[in-house]
Amino acid sequence: MIDVIRLKDILEKAEDLSGLCIEDVTYLLTAFNEEVRERVYDLASKIKNKIYGKRIVLFAPLYISNFCQNVCLYCGFHKSNVEITRKRLDHDILKKEVEILINQGVKRVLLVASEDPDLSIDRICEFINSIYSLKNHNGSIRRVNVNIAPLSIEEFKKLKSAKIGTYQVFQETYNIEKYKKYHLSGPKSDYKFRYEAPFRALEAGIDDIGMGVLFGLDNPISEVAGLLKHIDEMKKVYGVGPHTISVPRLKFAKGAKLSYNPPYKIDDEYFCYLVSVLRIAVPYTGIILSTREPRDLRDKLINLGVSQISAGSSTSPGGYLNKDEKDEQFTVSDNRSLNEVVQSLARSGYIPSFCTACYRKGRTGEIFMELASDGRIKKFCDRNAILSFAEYVASFVDNNSELRDFLERMVLDMGDEYLNSRVFEVLNGQKDVFI
Ligand code: SAM
Repeated sequence: MIDVIRLKDILEKAEDLSGLCIEDVTYLLTAFNEEVRERVYDLASKIKNKIYGKRIVLFAPLYISNFCQNVCLYCGFHKSNVEITRKRLDHDILKKEVEILINQGVKRVLLVASEDPDLSIDRICEFINSIYSLKNHNGSIRRVNVNIAPLSIEEFKKLKSAKIGTYQVFQETYNIEKYKKYHLSGPKSDYKFRYEAPFRALEAGIDDIGMGVLFGLDNPISEVAGLLKHIDEMKKVYGVGPHTISVPRLKFAKGAKLSYNPPYKIDDEYFCYLVSVLRIAVPYTGIILSTREPRDLRDKLINLGVSQISAGSSTSPGGYLNKDEKDEQFTVSDNRSLNEVVQSLARSGYIPSFCTACYRKGRTGEIFMELASDGRIKKFCDRNAILSFAEYVASFVDNNSELRDFLERMVLDMGDEYLNSRVFEVLNGQKDVFI
């Protein structure tokens, strides 16, 4: 039986944008039924709109190695998997991959690596430097976020010096017993070292942290509770929550048996509900959705709370250069190109955003949270998103494209004179508006 008074109370609290405690979130996740679901969807969509408006930030993952010393039963890169060919990018291939991404219009990459014993942190930092230094007539990569195995504080300091954006690490599961069962060997089998990784990254001065759970390993209700507890601990000690939460769902990965039949299958409907509950529970934290999910579901989730998506992704090292590359970490379900995703977003009234300004202007960590929580961030974000979209249109779209019309209509609707003239400048050739 649903406690209607409690439900009303929780939803009112969420509507105030003050976030929800673990108990309230657990209650909502347990109380799932059609009526509750619709009320949560309405609220999630309202909150999403209020805080993030129509902007959707785009990025592409860039895998640099699939050699791994861990045996994680769900991951295609695990050490004992003989069904994939191992690869580590060298500088030449890295450059070619980055060039392909730049030429598609990508401005933000997520550098991803398996826990490769022969890929030192110094080497990773060299790669990051190379990514930032590559420039051509189509621009450059302006933000490199990183998803690599947990590091020591000293190593995190090196990552910070390489000017990364967000450091991402997913705990995978908050069930310690299951964690042990699914991470058979290698450094990743140390639950505590992974759990404390966001804290060490913060100690090292990296203030944008991305967290997440790999949904499908354990009961999602306890996983979300575990994630929120982790966040609470972080806030208590460091005064700041995660910049983003990712919601990866376990997908088929060749040679990783656990992925063939996930221990906790989460159907699409409950997955959408889960994301909506997260949206209302942590309103100021970005939610990231990857191409693990298919197109229709991604479209739906954008309305329910997701604020960042990847597009045109490959999950194999060298996969942009060699399209036939099939040594993936997991199967991608949305195979549209970046341009197709941009078109689909614009058609649905969203602003495809390539903006990276916050990070370069020092609006990170606590400063970002402060600007976000009283809505001031919107002032920067709306304009910058439109300008970055204009930059994309100027570089990658011909004069008659419907994308131009969408852009012009969006600018008109905003009724912002300053923005109007800046967009005009960008469309007429002034590039690199954020550098
Ligand atoms: N070595 C890094 C680490 O230890 O965090 C990177 C891990 S992996 C390249 C990035 C994320 O992909 C993992 O943290 C996990 O959540 C997710 N992942 C692994 N196997 C997956 C699968 N079969 N389906 C969907 N996501 C998966």
